Order: sequence, then C-alpha cells, then structure tokens
Amino acid sequence: MSAPHPTNRPSNGPQDAPPPFLVGLGYDLHRLEPLAPQGPGRPLVLGSVRLDHDRGPVAHSDGDALLHAVTDALLGAIAAPDIGQLFPDTDPKHDAQDSRVFLAEALRLVHAAGYRPTNLDATVILERPKLSPHKPAIRRALADLLGLPEPRVNIKGKTHEGVDAVGEGRAVEVHAVVLLQHTPHK
Ligand SMILES: [Zn+2]
Repeated sequence: MSAPHPTNRPSNGPQDAPPPFLVGLGYDLHRLEPLAPQGPGRPLVLGSVRLDHDRGPVAHSDGDALLHAVTDALLGAIAAPDIGQLFPDTDPKHDAQDSRVFLAEALRLVHAAGYRPTNLDATVILERPKLSPHKPAIRRALADLLGLPEPRVNIKGKTHEGVDAVGEGRAVEVHAVVLLQHTPHK
C-alpha cells in the first residue's frame, strides 16, 4: 500500500502555511508569417509594444508571445490551469484578443491566491527585427501591467544565430520566470 499523497493529509500545523515564495516558468512560441494581405501574420506585438516588421505572429489572439509566456509563468507559479486551458483558441471571443486581458486575469488569480509578483526575468529569441530599441518600452509596459518597479523587470533579447526556424525569422520564442511573494492578509 502506498503512502497517502502529502497534500491529502489533514491540515494540522505550520507545514500547511503558504510558502513565502512561489516560482513560475513560462514559455511560448509563435510562427511568424508575412502580414496580410500577403500572409496570415498579425502585426508583431511583444509585451504589448508594437514592432515594425513585415512578418507577424500567426495566432488566434494578438499573438503576443511575451505576454503569453509571462501569463503562463504567473499561472504556473500558483499551479492554475495554463493559458490555453483558461482561454481556449476555439473561443471566438478571443479572436485578435489583446493579450493584456490574459495577463490581467492571471494576475487576478495570483492576488486571489494571496500572492503578488516580486520580479520577472524573460528572454525573447527573435532574429528580426532587433529587440534592443524596444526594450525600454517593453520593460515599462510589463512593469505597469505587473504593478512592479522597472528594476524588478528584465527583458533580454537574443537571436537564434540563423539556425532553425527561429533563426530563419520564421518564429519568435520567449522564456519567462516570475517569482511570487506571499502577501499576508492585513
Ligand atoms: Zn502564444
């Protein structure tokens, strides 16, 4: 007979107290295609900032891979269903949806669980266009959306060295990590 799963034991002491910190990992990738009318690409948006480019994400929503990765990191930290489960791409309501709505909902769940973000670190892997001129605006936007001071938000840009689909400019990829801090009720 196997031992009962530890989360099934009765609540009986400080070991059941919420952990002071939770960490969450998020990842997203979108194919980049020529913009309409040449192709199915939507305008390229990362961290809610529009980047001028002749290609953009193929997506049901606005295809903001950075916001999607951050949203999944927030949801993952509290072990909530992921972005695809919460906002199915079969729902016509999310057609061309501004992804800030997804992030706001994830943040609402984080707050309801008794936590708030402490910091965000993200890596955007994009061959073209260059991310560096847009980093300050993206960082400001994410700090605003998460209610964090800018020094707690970091965005790193990388290329994929010309290798594979990302390196050939046919996709954008994002990795994000967030740390949440438990906020005791006043
Ligand atoms: Zn996505």
